[in-house]
Amino acid sequence: MAVVRATRLPKCSRCQGDLIVSAVAPEDDAHGRPIHMELCPSCDRGDPDRPAAGILLQFFADGGGHDDSRIQEATFLLLQWTEECMAARA
Ligand SMILES: [Zn+2]
Repeated sequence: MAVVRATRLPKCSRCQGDLIVSAVAPEDDAHGRPIHMELCPSCDRGDPDRPAAGILLQFFADGGGHDDSRIQEATFLLLQWTEECMAARA
């Protein structure tokens, strides 16, 4: 998966708020369309059906995104979140 650090991310497609992560999944959906993944601090917090999103939000809230010593944890959480996004769109 390609991760691009951007100073300006697109707005959340659900609430028009600021996203923490915007990415395209490594595989297309069943119809061959790209899966756009959004991590929104408003929409993705506390959703029992999206536990990986909630954990990743907490990781960034804790400053994990700016801590190079937590890169393995970040990679793991991003992978879990990606799989969760893809499963939701399968
Ligand atoms: Zn949102």
